[in-house]
Amino acid sequence: MMKPNDNRDPLLADMYDVADDDGDDGDDGDDGDDGDDGDDGDDGDNGEAPETRASMLSVTCDCGATFTSVVYHAVNVTLEPELLYQLLADSLNVAVCPNCGRRARSATPFVYHDMARGLFAYVSPDADLPDEQRQALLENLRAVYSRAVEVAERLTPGADTSTAARAGRGAQAAPGIPEPDAPPMQVIFGVEQLRALVDSLLEPDQRLGKVTLTAPGSATAQRDRIHAIAQRLASEAGCLTETIERGSEYAITIYGPRSRVGVIARALRQGA
Ligand SMILES: [Zn+2]
Repeated sequence: MMKPNDNRDPLLADMYDVADDDGDDGDDGDDGDDGDDGDDGDDGDNGEAPETRASMLSVTCDCGATFTSVVYHAVNVTLEPELLYQLLADSLNVAVCPNCGRRARSATPFVYHDMARGLFAYVSPDADLPDEQRQALLENLRAVYSRAVEVAERLTPGADTSTAARAGRGAQAAPGIPEPDAPPMQVIFGVEQLRALVDSLLEPDQRLGKVTLTAPGSATAQRDRIHAIAQRLASEAGCLTETIERGSEYAITIYGPRSRVGVIARALRQGA
């Protein structure tokens, strides 16, 4: 497994370290606290629209390479549609060693928001969380969500603030309570579960498409050429790329909405 360079952020898995550069409040938590301290709730406290927030992570791989990787705490695919495809391609919050290609998923929970499709979810990447931890996380989340709802109400005069509405808000789950701005928040355990749900909400031509280019030899010039072609095609079509370089193997996958990747694939066939 990849190892962290140190452990400062309780939101991160043991395998990871964060070099927090996003002006977050910088908790110095204990690492035993598995990321359920609800940091993400602070978006609600200042009344601002949720943004995509990320940290740069410094990772040391088993092979000795040290590199940085991005970890998102809040993903808004309406504002950053490319993150939707990173999720579908399983590269969202996955650190890939540029030297040996090892992959490691961050265990940091994140908030996933798709405004257009009405999906608002708190995602715990670990699908096999022990019941105890799962319960603790849910309770903490309810508390954070309730606080955010109260703040939202104070900032939104005219919202439903009747006594009856308040009474139902106690220790029960926040989801289901009428909300002026936020859709009910789902809790999802496991990135695979999130991916299946997200995929089910997409139109067929919005689903993940991929086309892979490989360099025929190990010559640097050939690789550079393939790289340049892939980058150009991807950026023209609003798609993303992932490079796989392992010994003599060199491949670049272009991925994005199936409709756009289809156009690229046709162009490649014609050019070949
Ligand atoms: Zn490595």
